[in-house]
Amino acid sequence: MLPAPFLLIAALLGACIGSFLNVVAWRVPREESVVRPRSHCPRCGTTLAWCDNIPVLSWVLLRARCRHCGAGISGRYPAVELLCAGLFVAATAAGASSSALPGAPAALVVLAGWLLVGLLLPLILIDLDHLWLPEPLCRWGVVLGLVVTAIAGFQQGDAAGRTLLFWHLLAASAGLLGFETTSAVAQKLLGKPALGLGDAKLAALLGAWLGLTGLGLSVLLSVFSGALFGLLGLISGRLKRGQPFPFGPFLAGGGLAVWMAGNGFWLQRFSDWLGWSAL
Ligand SMILES: [Zn+2]
Repeated sequence: MLPAPFLLIAALLGACIGSFLNVVAWRVPREESVVRPRSHCPRCGTTLAWCDNIPVLSWVLLRARCRHCGAGISGRYPAVELLCAGLFVAATAAGASSSALPGAPAALVVLAGWLLVGLLLPLILIDLDHLWLPEPLCRWGVVLGLVVTAIAGFQQGDAAGRTLLFWHLLAASAGLLGFETTSAVAQKLLGKPALGLGDAKLAALLGAWLGLTGLGLSVLLSVFSGALFGLLGLISGRLKRGQPFPFGPFLAGGGLAVWMAGNGFWLQRFSDWLGWSAL
């Protein structure tokens, strides 16, 4: 178990990064710069003072209203900040224990985990809002995943580095091609687009970060959770038959679950479930 101060720092940093990712998720689809201008109220345009821009706390103190014009501030902002804080804590704990990057020093695994959260969280939010996974974000995600893999691999020796990089490159290609093929086949069978091409790019990103086994486990998790969500949506009447819903959040969520808990944990869970269903 990591010392509490470490986890507290991770949570605070995660909340601040979450605040920034809210801005990214709002501005990237609108083709605005993510750094300039500084955060402002979308209704009255007043630039936020630092004290009105503190993650979670400002939202609570301002009672979810703009100080200047009284416009409501969505509860999604503090929710994302809290979620990001939680994910940073999980990634920190995973750095000490998980098999996300076998043999790599804990500090590298922690930093890599934070980076992965910073990539996947805006993709989840943008896909939820716009049914769209921006290509540049996915492409940078693939590159960064391969860089992290290379750093983790090559500091264990040349041969180890080459092998690891090869398998993660293969996983990225397999993710891209596998999803594109599935999408093309599904379109032929159903006569309409079934999987967005963005999902293929996100699968490539996960392959670059997690390798073949991790990618396979993420896809399994996302298919199960997506099917469960669709079924519950249909039963509760919140989702109409044939109504599209974004698959990216399930895929990204599966990827985060695999990174945080490690391949071994999920392989064990899946073999338990298979064992039970075989009885
Ligand atoms: Zn305002």
